[in-house]
Amino acid sequence: MADDEGSKARCVNCREEVLVPDQYSHGDHIACGTCGTKHKVARGERVRLVVADPGPLRDALAQNEHAIRRIEADLAQARASFGIGANGFGIGVAFAIYQVGFKGEPLGLNLLLNAVGIALVSGMLLEAANWAFLAKRQRIARLSEELAEAEAEARQLRMKIRDATRL
Ligand SMILES: [Zn+2]
Repeated sequence: MADDEGSKARCVNCREEVLVPDQYSHGDHIACGTCGTKHKVARGERVRLVVADPGPLRDALAQNEHAIRRIEADLAQARASFGIGANGFGIGVAFAIYQVGFKGEPLGLNLLLNAVGIALVSGMLLEAANWAFLAKRQRIARLSEELAEAEAEARQLRMKIRDATRL
């Protein structure tokens, strides 16, 4: 079949080109030869394809919106716990400064041991905090990315549904 017997339009699902023969008029059904998705022909300035049955798209959108709400909740939780972690660490540091600076214990082995203990503990705290901060930051970044992807997908789905219901 030569190109001049029809026009090419892209499959809504797999984006492969579908040849729409000239005898197909506006609203006629045509399936994608690659993935089998059923379309309707939309003839305007140029030939376009819209999904014949928007039902599965609506289901996908509902699932997608559900996922978005879940990711948003996870993200809010991750951000909240990030704040708690930062505050907890700040309180720990303030306590150590108070112990060393203001309690004014007499000089001696006891203070030295205390100082070493504080140094060790604060060192471990720093390591743990650093690790937890990093892990939480990564989790927040990953969730933000997932959210952006899900929202982009939702926009695509809404566009396809709108196109399909117009015809
Ligand atoms: Zn296809």
